[in-house]
Order: sequence, then C-alpha cells, then structure tokens
Amino acid sequence: MIPSIENLNLAGKRVFIRVDFNVPIDGEQVVDDARIRASLPTIHHVLKSGGKVILSSHLGRPQGQVNPKYSLLPVASKLSEILEKEVLFPEDCIGNAARKLIGDMREGEIVLLENLRFHPGEEDNDPIFSEKLASFADVYINDAFGTLHRAHASTVGMVPLVPERAAGKLVEKEVQFLGKLVHAPEKPFMVVLGGSKVSDKLGVLENLLRHAQAFFIGGAMAYTFLKAKGVDVGSSLVEDAKVHQAAKILERARVKDIGFFLPLDHVIAQKLEKNAIFQTTTTAAIPSGWMGLDVGPKTLELYEKELSRAKTILWNGPLGAFETAPFERGTVDLAKAIAKISATTVVGGGDSLSAVRMAGVSEKISHLSTGGGATLEFLEGKTLPGLKALETEVSSGS
Ligand code: AMP
Repeated sequence: MIPSIENLNLAGKRVFIRVDFNVPIDGEQVVDDARIRASLPTIHHVLKSGGKVILSSHLGRPQGQVNPKYSLLPVASKLSEILEKEVLFPEDCIGNAARKLIGDMREGEIVLLENLRFHPGEEDNDPIFSEKLASFADVYINDAFGTLHRAHASTVGMVPLVPERAAGKLVEKEVQFLGKLVHAPEKPFMVVLGGSKVSDKLGVLENLLRHAQAFFIGGAMAYTFLKAKGVDVGSSLVEDAKVHQAAKILERARVKDIGFFLPLDHVIAQKLEKNAIFQTTTTAAIPSGWMGLDVGPKTLELYEKELSRAKTILWNGPLGAFETAPFERGTVDLAKAIAKISATTVVGGGDSLSAVRMAGVSEKISHLSTGGGATLEFLEGKTLPGLKALETEVSSGS
C-alpha cells in the first residue's frame, strides 16, 4: 500500500518533497512553469499543515558535475513569484550550507535544494549520498511522477532511511488515473498511439491488448504496422527491426477480435520540412519517394467516429510530424475531437500534451499525465522503482 500525504501529521516536521522541476529554461527565465504548478497542491498542503518544505529536483543532464547552466536558481525565483513567498536556495543540495539553512527553518518556510544531479551519487543511487539527503528529512514525499521509473538516490535510495513516507498529490492522481486504465477501465476502452518510435510503445500495446477494445495508430509508427501488412510505405519512417513484432501484434488483435485501426489515407511530402509541397493520398499506400507525415481526412473521420463510442480513452503520441506545418492538422484535430467525447480521457507524452494545448482544450481532458517514460512504463504494467520504494506493508488483520 502507498501511504497518502493526507494521513500524515506534518506539523513542525521537515518534509522533504522530491518534485519534478525539470522545466525548460532560457538563460535565467523559466519558459514553461507547468511542472512547477503541478506540484503546488502538495506544497500548499504541507504549508497548511505546518510543515517545513524542503524541495528537491533534478534539471537536465549535468552528468554529476556542477554546471551553472543547469542551476535551479531560476526555478527558485519562479516558485517564489508564484507562491508570493520567499524560497531559500542553498548553493548545494547537501553539505553545511544546506544543513544550516534546514536546521534553522521554521514552520511554513520553503527551501529549494540545488540540482541533485550535480552529484554523481544521485543517478548512481549511492548509499552515502542517500544518507546525506535523508538526514534533512523527518518525512519523505515523492511528487515527481516523471522520475518514478528511475532508481536514483532521491527516488529510491533515501526513502527507507526517512522515518515516514507518502506519495504527493500529483503522484496519487497519476496512480489513480493510470492505475484504472491498466486494471479496471470503464469499457469500451480505446487507445490512440502515435509518435515515431514503435519500440517505445510495443510494451504498452502488448499490455493493453489485455484490457482495451480498440487501438488507433498514427504517426510514423503506423508505417511499421502498414509495412507488416504488406502496404507500400514509400520512404516513410519505418523501424525495420520491429516489423516482425508489429505483425505479431496485428495477429493477436485479430485473434482476440480487438479493433486495430491503421491510417486509411495520409498527408505525404518528399521531405519533412516546413511548408513542403504536400499531397493527400486516397488510399493507405504511399508512392515511392514520398513519405507519410500526417494522417489524412478519411482516417481522422473514421477514428473520431469510432472513438465517440468510448467510455475511456488513452492517447499517447502525435498522429503526424506535428511540429512542422502543415503536418500538425491530424494531431490537433484529434485533440479537439477527444475533448468533445464524454468519456474519461487520459492524455500522456510531451507531444500530445503540447497538441492539447495548441488546440486549447486542456481543461476538457480528464487527466493530463505528466510523465514521459514513467507513464509508458506504468502502462506497460512494470513496477516503477520510485513507487515501490513508497510502499509500506499492510499489517495482517487490517
Ligand atoms: P515519439 O518520441 O516516439 O513519441 O515520437 C514523437 C515524434 O514523432 C514527434 O517529434 C513527431 O514529429 C514525430 N512524428 C510523428 N509522426 C511522424 C511521421 N509520420 N514522420 C516523421 N516523424 C513523425
């Protein structure tokens, strides 16, 4: 069982919260503060309960070295601006300065520690580094869903060394929504998968074939499946090494009588470049020298019609090369269509979230999943090390 933050007495305690403040930064400015805002419910809860808030995060990949480019200082300023409150910022996440600052904290104060990955001990899950972090905490909270698939010092190593632990509100919400998809989705449960890397999504497909009633494939990954069916895909992106596995999935879906929809038409061009000359095919086949870069109108119409019957929808991955005009159309139109369907809708993956924002429908989606790799691994049915670390045994008889 994973303890909830709601059941802990936090008054006067040093509450160490592992957050995911890995936000895009341009110079000294936070460009997108969505990840900071995602942890506000947990931070507010701890503040309201009279706890001392100690926040820690990684930012980028500084490879265990101090590198000012990856400092969390701009994040401390942004958080202070959002909360209208001082955020104390020691220049190292361990060591004397941090210890002194935390030792002097009063209830309701906030410290943000510097980038955990300035120390190799973080990603190595080093026991000594874990102990140093744990020495700052009476309570450990993990609210960094996007890092739960990593066994690092701040997500795994330090956890058993702290007297009490729980999931933060963001992690709780993710586990609640994604857990429902892999255990007891309301049916019909339909899954839309796109993006370019089939290899990333095969595990999800295989696991969800046990639960979902229909799959809708888009993006470059559709071409590996079309090739497996013997359809001409021109010079579209294909993962040749995965064609065989794609064929097996198609066969499993057929045997189980699960709908497995592939594009019927495409928007094609000779090159992936902005405002490239494009055509729309009338069939699933793509002529030689051309590549499929978005789904076509017949595909969208079919996908929208089928999805409108769903009670639960999961969408992960763009239907086309949506960063490059005009190949964003299918992805953005799908976001609009999903937003209109009265079903539990869960959207995950950075690109699909951007598309939902581009379409202006964020408020209409039941759950926007914040994890990339963590979301996919959860949906594959894998045990996330950071979640496992939070589990406590249920005593017999309870
Ligand atoms: P992934 O990281 O596997 O989720 O893939 C996301 C990327 O796939 C995005 O950058 C899209 O531009 C790209 N993508 C989606 N569809 C296509 C396509 N048909 N051809 C080339 N790239 C695509």
